[in-house]
Amino acid sequence: MTTELLMGNDAIGRGLIEAGCQVAAAYPGTPSTEILQSVINRRDEAVDPLHVEWSVNEKIAFEVALAASYTGKRSAAVMKQVGLNVAADPFMRTAYLGVKGGMLTIVADDPGPHSSQNEQDTRLFCLQGRVPVLDPSSPAEAKAMVEPAFALSEKYEMNVVLRPTTRVCHSRQSVALTTPLGPDRKSEFVPDTGRFCATPAFLPGLHKALNAKLEQIAKEPDWQPKMVEGDGSNKGLALVASGIAYANLVDLLAELELTGTVDLYQVLMPYPLNPDFIDTLQNSYTKVLVLEETYPVIEMQLAHPGAAGKLSGAVPKEGELTPDVLYTALADFLGLERQQNEAVQARGQRPSLCPGCPHRAAFYSIKKTFPDGIFPSDIGCYTLGMNLEAVHTVHCMGACISQGAGFYQAYRQDGGATPTVVVTIGDSTFFHAGIPALINAVVQDARIIVVILDNATTAMTGGQPVPHMGIAAGGRKTKAIAIMPLVKAAGVEFIESCDPYHQARFEELLRKADEHTRHENGGVAVLIAKHGCLMDPAVRKAQEAAPVQITEDCLGCGQCVEIFECPALSMDKENETARVDGDRCHGCGTCIAVCPAQAIVEGGMI
Ligand code: SF4
Ligand code: SF4
Repeated sequence: MTTELLMGNDAIGRGLIEAGCQVAAAYPGTPSTEILQSVINRRDEAVDPLHVEWSVNEKIAFEVALAASYTGKRSAAVMKQVGLNVAADPFMRTAYLGVKGGMLTIVADDPGPHSSQNEQDTRLFCLQGRVPVLDPSSPAEAKAMVEPAFALSEKYEMNVVLRPTTRVCHSRQSVALTTPLGPDRKSEFVPDTGRFCATPAFLPGLHKALNAKLEQIAKEPDWQPKMVEGDGSNKGLALVASGIAYANLVDLLAELELTGTVDLYQVLMPYPLNPDFIDTLQNSYTKVLVLEETYPVIEMQLAHPGAAGKLSGAVPKEGELTPDVLYTALADFLGLERQQNEAVQARGQRPSLCPGCPHRAAFYSIKKTFPDGIFPSDIGCYTLGMNLEAVHTVHCMGACISQGAGFYQAYRQDGGATPTVVVTIGDSTFFHAGIPALINAVVQDARIIVVILDNATTAMTGGQPVPHMGIAAGGRKTKAIAIMPLVKAAGVEFIESCDPYHQARFEELLRKADEHTRHENGGVAVLIAKHGCLMDPAVRKAQEAAPVQITEDCLGCGQCVEIFECPALSMDKENETARVDGDRCHGCGTCIAVCPAQAIVEGGMI
C-alpha cells in the first residue's frame, strides 16, 4: 500500500476508482467539482470500462447513475448541495425503489456558505428522504468510506449518500491508496416492474420495506459512532461531533491539552442514527455538547434533555464551525475561560469579472441601452454583472428566465407601459435549466429579451465542457448541440448572435430585440452574446489585441474604474487620472467606449 498527498475531492475520486465504480456522472459546482475531474484524470487507473460524464444537470446525472446501478454496476452521481435540489425528484423516489449495484450520491455541502446561494444540510435532506448518509471528517476518511459505502448500498439495495463539506473537499492529507480491484461487472438488467415501475399500489409496501431496512442499517456495526473514552474527570459530560467539526474538535482538545478528559463520540452516519446510541447518551450523560454542520440533525434525533447545540443556542445556527466558534461552545460547556480577542474578519476586495471578460462588455451595453430596465440573471461568474448594475436578481439555476417572465406578467396586468426586461443566462445554465423556462416564456407570451452569455464553457467551476462544444468529459469528441436551433425550436422568432466586444452592433441588436418584444406580433427575443472565456488560453491566444492607453485628456472622473470595473484599470491617486496595468490588460478595447472624454485609446504597451 502506498500513500499520496491528496485533496479531499481527489481522494474521493480515487476512492471511486478503487471501489470499481463504472459509471460516474456529475454537474460541476463548488465544492464538489474536482471529484469527477479526479475520476477523469485517473481513468487510466480504473477498471475498464468506465463511463464518465458531465451531465446537463444534477437530475440527469442522478438518473444516469441510477440506471447503471439497475444493471448491477457500481455508480456514482456527484453534485453540490444545491444540486441535490435539482435531483430531488428521482432522489426521493429512489429511496423507495432502491438500487441494484452499489450507488453513491456524493453531495458536497458548503457550510458558510462560500460559493452557494444558501447553506443547506444534505444530512437533513436525507433524513427527510429516508436515505442513509455518511459524514466524513477528513479527506482520508472520505476516501476510506467509499468502498464500504458501496458495500452497504449493495447489501440493502439502497442509494447511500456520502456528504463531504467544503473543508474536507478542499483540504489535503496523506491518503492510503490500494489497487483498484473493481467488480468489473457486466450489465444485467432484470426487469422488476413491481419495483422499478412501482405504481401507487406498490408504494405502501415499499415504504414499509424501506423503514425496516433503515432500522437494520441504523445498527450496522461498521457505521456506529466511534467513542474515545475520557478519564472520568468530566463525569456525566459527552462531546458528540460529526464531519469536519469532529476533526476541528480533536485538534482543539489537543491544543488545550484536554484530549482524553471527556468522553468523545464521532458520528459517522448521522442518519439513520443508532437508537442504542441515543439511549446510551440519554442514560449515561447529564449534558451533551453536539457539534455539527450545518443544521442540528444529530441533536434533533438525540432529543436529549441536557443537549447543548444549535437547537439550544449553545452553538451558532449558521456558518461554519471554525476552531474559534468551537472554542466558545466548548469553553461554555466545560466551564473554561472564553477567549477575549475574537478576530474581526476584514473584508477583502469585492470580486470582479476578469480583465477583458466579454460579459462585462455585454452588461455595460445592456445597462447603457436600457438604463431603466429590469435585469434578472443567474448562477455563474456572470452574476458579477451586479457590479455594473445590470443584474438585479439571482435566485437558482435557470430561474432568471422564469423570473423575467414573471416580472413582465406582473407589469403587463397593470395595463400601463411595461419596462424592458433583459435576462442574462450563461450557456451552461441555459442547458441546465433554461430551456423549459424559455419554452414557458414563449408559450405564455412573455415579452422579454433573453441574452445567452455564450462563453463556450462552464467558467465558474473551471471550464467543464458545455453541450454545444462537441466535447465530452475527458476531451472525448461528441455531437455538438447548437444553441440557435434549440432556441428556434422553443418557438422564439427573434434570434440573433453577436460578439459583445462589438458594442455598437450589440446595442443595435438589443434595441431591435426590444422592438420585437413590443411589437403586436412579437414575442420573446433571444440574443446570443458569443465570445470565448478569456480563462481559456486558446481564446486569449486567438484574440487580436488592441492595446489601450490613457491620454492626457483623462478628467479623473473614475467612470472607467467604478462603472466598468475592469481590474486592469485603476486610479492613479497622485496624478488623479486613470491608469492601465499592462500586465493585466488583454487589449480587448471594450473600455474605450466608456470614457466620456475619449481619453482611453488604442496604442498602449502590452
Ligand atoms: S480614462 Fe476616462 S473614464 Fe477613466 S477616469 Fe479618465 S476620463 Fe474618466
Ligand atoms: S482593454 Fe480595457 S477593458 Fe480590455 S482588458 Fe484592457 S483595460 Fe480592461
